[in-house]
Amino acid sequence: MTDFLSDKDRIFTNLYGFQSAGLDAATKRGDWDNTKRWFENGPDWVIEQVKASGLRGRGGAGFPTGVKWSFMPKEPPADRPSYLVINADESEPGSCKDREIIRHDPHKLLEGALIAGYAMRARAAYIYIRGEYIREAEALQRAIDEAYDKGLLGKNAAKSGYDFDVYMHRGAGAYICGEETAMLESLEGKKGQPRLKPPFPAGAGLYGHPTTVNNVESIAVVPEILRRGSGWFSGFGRENNHGTKLFQISGHVERPCVVEESMSIPFRDLIERHCGGITGGWDNLLAVIPGGSSVPLVPAAEIMDCPMDFDGLRDLKSGLGTAAIIVMDKSTDIVRAISRISYFYKHESCGQCTPCREGTGWMWRVMERLVTGQAEVEEIDMLHDVTKEVEGHTICALGDAAAWPIQGLIRHFRPELERRIAARKNAMLEAAE
Ligand code: SF4
Repeated sequence: MTDFLSDKDRIFTNLYGFQSAGLDAATKRGDWDNTKRWFENGPDWVIEQVKASGLRGRGGAGFPTGVKWSFMPKEPPADRPSYLVINADESEPGSCKDREIIRHDPHKLLEGALIAGYAMRARAAYIYIRGEYIREAEALQRAIDEAYDKGLLGKNAAKSGYDFDVYMHRGAGAYICGEETAMLESLEGKKGQPRLKPPFPAGAGLYGHPTTVNNVESIAVVPEILRRGSGWFSGFGRENNHGTKLFQISGHVERPCVVEESMSIPFRDLIERHCGGITGGWDNLLAVIPGGSSVPLVPAAEIMDCPMDFDGLRDLKSGLGTAAIIVMDKSTDIVRAISRISYFYKHESCGQCTPCREGTGWMWRVMERLVTGQAEVEEIDMLHDVTKEVEGHTICALGDAAAWPIQGLIRHFRPELERRIAARKNAMLEAAE
C-alpha cells in the first residue's frame, strides 16, 4: 500500500494559488521565518544539510545538489565573485512545475536563493526566466521588489550580515537557453549557444566567474529542508531517490495536474490518486513519456508499477527528467507524436555542431515518411544507426534529447512502423491492379 504525501508534508502549500503570492501571505505560510539563523553555523553546514537530505537536481540531470554546491570556491577573491544562476527557462514540452512555483510561491524561491547563495559564497543570483512566462515574470519581479523593500535581499539580507542581490533576466524564446552554458552566454548578452566543457561553470561560468546553475524547484525546497531537517526530506522516496517532487501530468488522463508527491510513488498510484485515472480506463493506456519530451517513451505494460524516480525509470531505459509525464492512450498516433517531438528538436537545435544540426533534420524527415509508411523497412535500422551517431557526439545534450525518443519508438513500436510500411505498399499494389 502506497503512503501518499499528506498535506502537512507538502512544501509548496500555495501551488494552486488559493492564497496570495505576496510577502504577507508567504510569511504566514512560514517563508522567511528567521532565515538568518541558518547563517550561524556557516556555509559548509548548509551544504552538509543539503547533501544529507539526498536532494538531487530537479531540472532533469539529477546530480546531487549539495555535492554540486561543494565544487564552488571556499574563498572567492573580492574581484572575482561567485554567482548562482537559477534556471527558470522551463521550455521542455510537458514541463510546467517551475511556472507554478514562480506564480504562486515565489518567496520560497527567493529565500532558497539567499540560502543557496550564502552556502556557495555567491554574491548574487540571476534568475533566467523563460520569455513566454510573462505573468510569472511580473509575479517574480513583484516578489523581488517586496523582498528588497523589507530588507530580505540586498545589503545585510534578512539581517544575516550577508550581502546578496537577486536579478531577474527574461529569455527570448529559445529552448536551448535552458542548457546551462547557453544560459550563461545569453546572460552575458551573446547568442545562446552551449559552451564546450570543460571548463565547467563552477570554475569559469558567468563572466568567467565561478557559477552554479540550479533549477527553480531545487532551490525552492532548500528552506524547508533546513526548517524541518535533512532527515525529514530524505524520509520520502527510497535509497538514492529522496524527497518530495513536483509531478506534472498531461495528456490522456481525466484530470491533468501538477502535484507534489513522494518521490518513488508508483505510476499507477500517482495517476489514480491525482488524475482520476486514464481516459477510457487503464486498458486504454498505450504509452507514457515519463520525464518531458527528451526521454524515451515507456509502453503501458512496463510503466504501471514503476517507481517514479531516477532509478526506477532508468531501469526502464527512460528517465525521470523534469517529471513531466505525458500520458498517451490508444487513440494516439504514436509515430506522429514522436515525429512531432523530432521536429521540435530540429527547430531548436542551435546549429553549432554537425551531428545535431544535420542529424536532427535528417531524423525528422525519415520520421515524417514513417508516419505515412512511405519509407523502406531497412530505413528503420538506418534511422536507429543515425540516432546512435548523434547520441553522445554533440556539444550539449540536445543531440541526445533528439535521439532518445526515436530510439524508444523503435524499441517498443517497431511492429507498428513495419505495419505502416506494409500497409502503404499493399495499398499501392491494389491501386495498380
Ligand atoms: Fe547546438 Fe545541438 Fe550542438 Fe547542442 S547539440 S550545441 S543544440 S548543435
